[in-house]
Amino acid sequence: MLPMLAAQAASGPDAALADALAGIVGVANVLADFPDRLAASRDRAPLATFAFRDGLVPGVLPRAVVRPGTHDEVARVLAWAHANAVPVIPYGAGSGVLGGAIPLGGEIVLDLKRLNRLVAVNATDGLATVEAGMNGGRFEAALAAQGFTCGHLPQSLHMSTVGGWLACRGAGQNSTRFGKIEDMVVGLRAVLADGTNVEVRPAARRSTGPSLRDVFVGCEGTLGIITEATLRIWTRPEAELPLMLSFPDIASGLEAGRRIMQAELRPAVFRLYDDTETAPRTKDLAGFVKGRVLAILVFSGIERLASLERDLAREITDALGGREEGDAPYRHWLAHRFESYSPPWQASGHYMDTCEITGAWSRLVEMHGRMREAILGLCPGAHFGAHWSHAYPEGACQYMTVRLPPMPRADGLALHARAWDLLQTLTVEMGGSIAHHHGAGLLRGPWMAAELGAGGAAMLQRIKDALDPGNILNPGKLGLRGRDGAARVGGEG
Ligand SMILES: Cc1cc2nc3c(=O)[nH]c(=O)nc-3n(C[C@H](O)[C@H](O)[C@H](O)COP(=O)(O)OP(=O)(O)OC[C@H]3O[C@@H](n4cnc5c(N)ncnc54)[C@H](O)[C@@H]3O)c2cc1C
Repeated sequence: MLPMLAAQAASGPDAALADALAGIVGVANVLADFPDRLAASRDRAPLATFAFRDGLVPGVLPRAVVRPGTHDEVARVLAWAHANAVPVIPYGAGSGVLGGAIPLGGEIVLDLKRLNRLVAVNATDGLATVEAGMNGGRFEAALAAQGFTCGHLPQSLHMSTVGGWLACRGAGQNSTRFGKIEDMVVGLRAVLADGTNVEVRPAARRSTGPSLRDVFVGCEGTLGIITEATLRIWTRPEAELPLMLSFPDIASGLEAGRRIMQAELRPAVFRLYDDTETAPRTKDLAGFVKGRVLAILVFSGIERLASLERDLAREITDALGGREEGDAPYRHWLAHRFESYSPPWQASGHYMDTCEITGAWSRLVEMHGRMREAILGLCPGAHFGAHWSHAYPEGACQYMTVRLPPMPRADGLALHARAWDLLQTLTVEMGGSIAHHHGAGLLRGPWMAAELGAGGAAMLQRIKDALDPGNILNPGKLGLRGRDGAARVGGEG
């Protein structure tokens, strides 16, 4: 059941808890009033937006919002929470879209945004050490001022934190060249549920047993709280050379992507749009032949090298019917690449959501066809559009937008849930991964066992039980057991 906002507003702050936390972080950094708790009761999961627009909260309000300013304060808050069996949700900027930061009952929210310093830039080793709560846009700007880029530029750059990138195992728009965040993180500091400090010292590579770093990267706050990261950085590129192409169909466009990646070319950006997503981007493009699909590639780095890579890619795409197009769609993408298209649709009552999965090159055409058919069959007026970005030698991310027309809330939620079930179930059936970069959060819980396999899911639960026996760290996420001992099955509350 979703609690009404009014009922939540009546639940007063917890004075004893606030006092105890104020003893660690200071009175000014414990927020226990209704507006602060309300603001921290959601992330950017569309289900949370659907709830808010109907005067509901997606889960429940947190008991308080705590704002530590140092790694040690994070450790002391966790030690206190562990001793007092108080669940904790780490909170970056709340841009997660899978409900990972939504409280389910009794949690305090640990807002990390005061940990916002760029600690060090080591130009010789090509590394930057940054606190986890630093805003992504500010981090990139601070690096740019010294001639560097971190290479991780998600669409949510300006509304997310570095810690959130690591926690969700995110991907930026230049990931085809620089990799996902897990390919960039070289060291980190984190705190376990009982306040234990863990430091993975930055090292180029190591061979000392399983990677402890990877316990935290992608854990979404369930296994520990990341307070600092050391990431690779890169000299800002001398040139960024776009290649705007159209292909006869998605099969030839995807085949081009496969051959480019397997030829070891390294476009920073590879984006191929299906016919639905091509149409609005090319409606004013002179000479564009209707029915063809659009691709944006960008080669970057040293100009001579980037130019050679672009020429080699052109040879590959020529052989597949690729045709060079005007660069207006590239310029438009560049100008709007950090904006979200969802808010107007959400505000007008639509049930709009996105779902990103990973598929093998050999299955992507079939995945697109079957998923499109499934979504369009849900109801009259259903919308399905897709593009492929984040390409690898073995496959790519298929990023889908699903939009259902305004309808009574119960019907909309039921169809929205059905859409997710279709997309995730078909992904597993066709050998893909149910999540490429948004994480699993609360809402992907129901498909985590299918993704990980029974043994894998049990292993993840055992790791959780061993590291956090009191189950205080973001309980009920990633398909793990909630405070009531039951595995979360996603959805609401
Ligand atoms: C418009 C829009 C565009 C987006 N585009 C992209 C994109 O291009 N690429 C991409 O990868 N994602 C994208 N996202 C998703 C989202 O921005 C990312 O998942 C981002 O990494 C989340 O960062 P955050 O700081 O907002 O985390 P939050 O939303 O605050 O938290 C996300 C999860 O991580 C946990 N967490 C947060 N900080 C920490 C920490 N320091 N230690 C441990 N756990 C922590 C939280 O408890 C929660 O479970 C987009 C979202 C929106 C709304």
